[in-house]
Amino acid sequence: MGEFELIQRYFTRPSPRAVLGVGDDCAIVQAAPGMQLAISTDMLVAGRHFFPDVDPQALGHKALAVNLSDLAACGARPLAFTLALALPQADAAWLEPFAAGLWALADAHGCELIGGDTTRGPLNLCITVFGEVPGDSHAATRTRALLRSGARAGDDVYVSGSLGEAALGLQHLLGKLHLNAPVAAACRARLERPTPRVALGLALRGVASACADVSDGLLGDLGHILERSGVGARLDTDAVLACCPWSAHAIDAPVLRQCVLSGGDDYELVFTAAPAHAAAVAAAAQASGTPVRRIGRIETQTGLHLVDAHGQEVTSSGQGFDHFASASAHTAEALQ
Ligand code: ADP
Ligand code: MG
Repeated sequence: MGEFELIQRYFTRPSPRAVLGVGDDCAIVQAAPGMQLAISTDMLVAGRHFFPDVDPQALGHKALAVNLSDLAACGARPLAFTLALALPQADAAWLEPFAAGLWALADAHGCELIGGDTTRGPLNLCITVFGEVPGDSHAATRTRALLRSGARAGDDVYVSGSLGEAALGLQHLLGKLHLNAPVAAACRARLERPTPRVALGLALRGVASACADVSDGLLGDLGHILERSGVGARLDTDAVLACCPWSAHAIDAPVLRQCVLSGGDDYELVFTAAPAHAAAVAAAAQASGTPVRRIGRIETQTGLHLVDAHGQEVTSSGQGFDHFASASAHTAEALQ
């Protein structure tokens, strides 16, 4: 199968919302009046971001999911994406399920494949997504996108869904941790088939003051919000640990902590909102069918502090949060 037959067979479908999709030198997309484009790119490299023998259907899902997660973090509605693909060979038994996983998630979000590039080489996937957000000026202050820079002292800090499962699943696959079968299956599913929180991101527009997706671990990604906003945060450690549904499942406590606080690949949203918006946050969670938990508060003093139920700073076996921040369990590092 040649390059063009491969593109035609697996990656060409009608794209009614684009002016022009696959087949010409460029795709053409009409930006709607009053809307701005939100654009993000993520690359997945075999052996670095995923196991080369991972289920290709799950890989097709994940390659797009990680990109949709970036749109979710900005409160952008998915429109279209391009796919750049390096493949060692044109193997129908691999391409078929890969394309199926990709199309299923694309269809679920109404996100059209409008172009890409295909070449022979070590397995490598790069997707660029295009989304739209309301906005009417070149000034970043005039966009309605959710930004990392909007957190203010006094805001509550929230996180969606569950944390730590993807990292637990990875440690299990690497043989570094034993999970019993049902926990292992649930954690592996979260690692291999993450759910981008697109509906929540959209519902948080005008409600959240800042937002990021958790791709590299809670402390790291919340750290980006704090840095861009020039503020600090105090997190309730118990509330954070409660974000992992397996916290009471006889998983070694330091490992669990590490995975929940700093594990990567969860693709949840971490966001801040003024206390006056607490009911609107709950309504956004309800409307999008996404669980949301309050885990702390933004404060003027910079830095990230983990405290217990009594407000005492938590250090476990002599280790402060720096230990967790620097030891990410993200797939990229773990597979090296
Ligand atoms: P060019 O050489 O002009 O860059 P190509 O010959 O590489 O174009 O690609 C032909 C058409 O197929 C283009 O419209 C391109 O966007 C599309 N395309 C190539 N690879 C993919 C892919 N993996 N998925 C979707 N569209 C693709
Ligand atoms: Mg060309």
